[in-house]
Amino acid sequence: MSKSCHVDEFVLGWELTNPSSLLLLIERKMKKLQRLIIGLMTGLMLIGCSGKVVRTLAPDTVDEKRINLEASRSYQQVIAESKLSKDKRLVEMVKRVGMRIAKASGEPFDWEIELIESPELNAWCMPGGKMAVYTGILPVLKTEGALAAVIGHEVAHATRRHGMNGYAQAIENQLATAAVAGIAVLAAEFYCESQECKALATIGGAAGAMGLAFFERKFSRDDETDADRIGQIYMAKAGYDPAEAIEVWERMAQATGGDGGPEFMSTHPSNKNRKQRLSQWLSETKPLYEKAPQKYGIGETIF
Ligand SMILES: [Zn+2]
Repeated sequence: MSKSCHVDEFVLGWELTNPSSLLLLIERKMKKLQRLIIGLMTGLMLIGCSGKVVRTLAPDTVDEKRINLEASRSYQQVIAESKLSKDKRLVEMVKRVGMRIAKASGEPFDWEIELIESPELNAWCMPGGKMAVYTGILPVLKTEGALAAVIGHEVAHATRRHGMNGYAQAIENQLATAAVAGIAVLAAEFYCESQECKALATIGGAAGAMGLAFFERKFSRDDETDADRIGQIYMAKAGYDPAEAIEVWERMAQATGGDGGPEFMSTHPSNKNRKQRLSQWLSETKPLYEKAPQKYGIGETIF
């Protein structure tokens, strides 16, 4: 299990125990690139010492629009490098659930969702509404309603702007570095050995930095609780029985068997509370479900 690529804790311990090899590759390449940039910066500063001081130029602020733009670029990159599922029924299910949750959130993002063919028990939503579900999580979830619970949770992280400071910082650092070593991206073209590294270099450092920050993110427990609650509200508004969110926990716990994935078993003693809270919130979310224009219950069975 790689802590550096931990995604978020919902599927937790599940959610992202095994980052894709692509991301590991990108991470390794970024580290190499960073070393190269440091080398370039040192060179530039030595030149600078003969006359003026070379300064890093950081932008005043990296706003949400910029974060979403870089997230979108990172997303296109990840999707381009991923194997997408060709299972029509599952792709259609993931897309309809994603779009129903998106609509229920009321957020005017430029929503997108893809089903990635991968054994990982994973799902995520980037800032700005770019989502992905991995095929590995589907047999564990068992129902469309459980999928809605997971997507609802992930979408809530994005709509509630969790982790935005971290993303802004990553982009700022990258822009500041690029300002000093303006030729870094160009240099990376020569330095890169693989197609993936070259592709990352051509999309620009900020998008790569944003992507890495996203895949390294770790939310606070408060953010997780918030995402649980808001996610359950979204699924209810989208027409899925919110009680199914409670079941997700049972299935995940069974699938992971209490070890391996469940890093959360040791680091998150409040899981019982989490399940209890989801049950308590039914008093709020059930009425929302009852009022939903269309009701799907737990939806289709996945397998
Ligand atoms: Zn989460």
